[in-house]
Amino acid sequence: MEKIMTQVKIGVVGCGGRMGQTLIGAILDQEKAALSGGTERHDSPHIGQAIRHPVTGAETALTVTEDAEALFETSDVVIDFTCPTATVLHASYAAKHNTIHIAGTTGMSELDEKALHMAAEKVPVVYASNFSLGVNLLFYLTQKAASMLDEDFDIEILEMHHRHKVDAPSGTALSLGHSAAKGRGVDLDQVSDRGRDGITGERKRGDIGFAVLRGGNVAGEHTVSFNAYDERLELTHKAGDRAIFARGAVKAALWATTKDAGLYDMFDVLGLPKN
Ligand code: NAD
Repeated sequence: MEKIMTQVKIGVVGCGGRMGQTLIGAILDQEKAALSGGTERHDSPHIGQAIRHPVTGAETALTVTEDAEALFETSDVVIDFTCPTATVLHASYAAKHNTIHIAGTTGMSELDEKALHMAAEKVPVVYASNFSLGVNLLFYLTQKAASMLDEDFDIEILEMHHRHKVDAPSGTALSLGHSAAKGRGVDLDQVSDRGRDGITGERKRGDIGFAVLRGGNVAGEHTVSFNAYDERLELTHKAGDRAIFARGAVKAALWATTKDAGLYDMFDVLGLPKN
């Protein structure tokens, strides 16, 4: 196949992390993209190391730096799966250097998210708690099912992730909660039931419950269950490998190069209906 002449320059902040490494591989494997560099925290052992393909081990001419601002300055797009404090800072570099920001970091507070909203006034920002096609379809199906099943069906959301995950419930589980609440026409903050322990009392009708499992190297599993007397409907997604998130983020990066400034999500990228 003929090589595309103008490749989109994509950088990866947090390139030494689990998602960072997977993203490096996805960018190097995508012929429409060229890897423009990678950064890590100032105290990371990756600083100064050559950036390699995580699967083939093939070395690139790039080394890991701690200078995120320089990476934003020299890239068309930067993909960011790091931590909330870093993502807030990165959003300011995106706005300053007119660089598209693809943000997959979870555990962001409303205040943290303001930084992404501000950047989105200047550049395209794609922010999603989950970049896989299957999970975005699950968001859609959850909203649809919740809109069709009344409160006789108790909604419970169960998620499982690897032992290293630091936030709970997962960003995806919370997004599923929002999808279910939207379907029901209620505000998740009013009906969310998290962290049951001890004598909790009976389940409140209309609540949306969350349960969390952690262990091993599970990339991500989510089930939304609708529980009535004598019947249960379950919608489940299982991620076999975090490459699905990386491929989705690279797809979003290429998609965003044709867009105006604004805050987008994976429904926009995948063309899924929002209502
Ligand atoms: P991880 O801890 O393996 O990787 C995070 C990396 O970011 C680390 O290498 C860390 O050193 C680096 N980092 C932190 N601060 C930095 C800074 N200021 N500059 C540069 N690098 C910095 O975690 P992970 O499993 O790769 O997940 C990262 C984030 O992505 C989490 O919030 C996770 O929940 C989220 N995530 C989102 C999706 C999605 O589809 N949206 C999928 C998987 C994971």
